[in-house]
Amino acid sequence: MRITFCGSGAGAAVNPRRGASSIHLAHGDAQVLVDTGPGFMERMADSGLEPDSVQDVVFSHLHFDHAMGVVELFTRLIVRRGAPVTVYGPRDTDSYIEAALGFARVNATNEFIRNWLDGVSVVLTRPGDEREIGGIDVRSVEVPHAPYLECLARRFEAGGRSLVYTGDTTYAPDVLVPLADGADVLVHEGFTESCLTRMAEGLSESGRQGLFKGVRGTHSRAESAGQIARDAGVGTLVLTHIMPLERDWELVEEARRAFDGTIVVASDGLSLEI
Ligand SMILES: [Zn+2]
Repeated sequence: MRITFCGSGAGAAVNPRRGASSIHLAHGDAQVLVDTGPGFMERMADSGLEPDSVQDVVFSHLHFDHAMGVVELFTRLIVRRGAPVTVYGPRDTDSYIEAALGFARVNATNEFIRNWLDGVSVVLTRPGDEREIGGIDVRSVEVPHAPYLECLARRFEAGGRSLVYTGDTTYAPDVLVPLADGADVLVHEGFTESCLTRMAEGLSESGRQGLFKGVRGTHSRAESAGQIARDAGVGTLVLTHIMPLERDWELVEEARRAFDGTIVVASDGLSLEI
């Protein structure tokens, strides 16, 4: 199984160094996109990957920085060579994809593309779901992230190797330690308090409080990611969903407080054979 980051950034801030969240998984002939942050197609091209070859899309959750690029996937290709994709996602993925297909149909100026769009299918993968996607066994658990939004972490297993992707989550050992138990690679989101301090510079007191509460209440510190990696006994921790003002060495330093295995800070184009 090969994992390639087609976006390692986070949220609404424009980041010249990182695209929003998207991961490409390849296993044999299977090619799966896990989240489609806007702009992911350029990042795929940077890595020599071909969007037309993707058969399946898996969403962790429907925040725009993880999902909105699916509109690009449906709209930007003038001639589709691949078969229509199947989209797997949490609650409301069906209505999200119907809206995305609506955008795409406005642009669809020939029968071939209209037929391709008609062939897109959606499978809701609710918490506890277990299934095979492209020859990869996928297990899903719900993680705490944002109000009203169902957010899923996934464990991918193929050829005796395993990868866990948390999506966006607060520190959630009860669900993430069992999910990541003994995984070869854990891809966990992470932020540092020093980044928050830099982000808060120049804000009003209420702005600072809103920033701190918003990030701390919906995301994980890098040290928390390290704790999950340690308690689950994973081989390698990859930190992702990186905010623009983060410093890689601070992310590693925080995670290292808890985890003494290999720690990698994801970057766009990073590709790992698992
Ligand atoms: Zn999110």
